[in-house]
Amino acid sequence: MVKSLWLPRKQLGLVFLLYIILNYFFTLYSYSYLYDVYDGDCTTSLLCWRNTFDWTLKGNGGFGGTAQGVTPYVMGVWNTERTQRFIFDNLINIILILIMLNMVSGIIIDTFGLLREIQEEKLADKEGKCFICGLSKEIFDRQADSSYNFGVHTKKEHYMWNYVFFIAYLRDKDDTEYTGIESYVDEKIKNIDFSWFPFNRAFALKHNDENEGEVKKEVLEKFNADSDEVKRNIKTLYDACSTLNARISSN
Ligand SMILES: [Zn+2]
Repeated sequence: MVKSLWLPRKQLGLVFLLYIILNYFFTLYSYSYLYDVYDGDCTTSLLCWRNTFDWTLKGNGGFGGTAQGVTPYVMGVWNTERTQRFIFDNLINIILILIMLNMVSGIIIDTFGLLREIQEEKLADKEGKCFICGLSKEIFDRQADSSYNFGVHTKKEHYMWNYVFFIAYLRDKDDTEYTGIESYVDEKIKNIDFSWFPFNRAFALKHNDENEGEVKKEVLEKFNADSDEVKRNIKTLYDACSTLNARISSN
């Protein structure tokens, strides 16, 4: 919740600035034409603005609700002053309360939704993909070998804590005692290079990848053979058309 207020702080700040500016415009009008509603508490435009700002956000009808007491209303009479107040009070309510404050809640709700989406995406990523190779759960669960699934893969083959243990082990071990592989990985870690991680690769899927390659090769070969046949058929058709055309011309 706090995050949904903090993240759009720039937009919220700008909306607040716009709110103050609009409030000031309304104040300039009321300072000039509705001076009496302030009951003398409006010696400077700043003081006037403070009152307008304060009254607008009050729950008792906003500006109109608070200013009403000092307006000399005549019951049942629709005079110029009443029209002026009718327009001013409603405009200030519609623009400053309805529109501006709803803009603020809109921004907060939007950010809230966005944050929830990001959270859900993270959760789906955490639960549906291997942390080490990034391959999705479905790929492992589709395996013909039912004893090998996503759970086995993430707990045995790509158990993420093993990688952490290995890094900790390398830090603890003396550089001079590294084996070839350890030196290689240590170098990569120092350069913040994670290419030693098996991205998009899993040993258990290697066999299947080869099979998949074979299947793709077969499909490609069949496609090539088919396309050759289509080419031959078109050539025959073209020859037949040419012959027919020649006969028609000679007749
Ligand atoms: Zn994996």
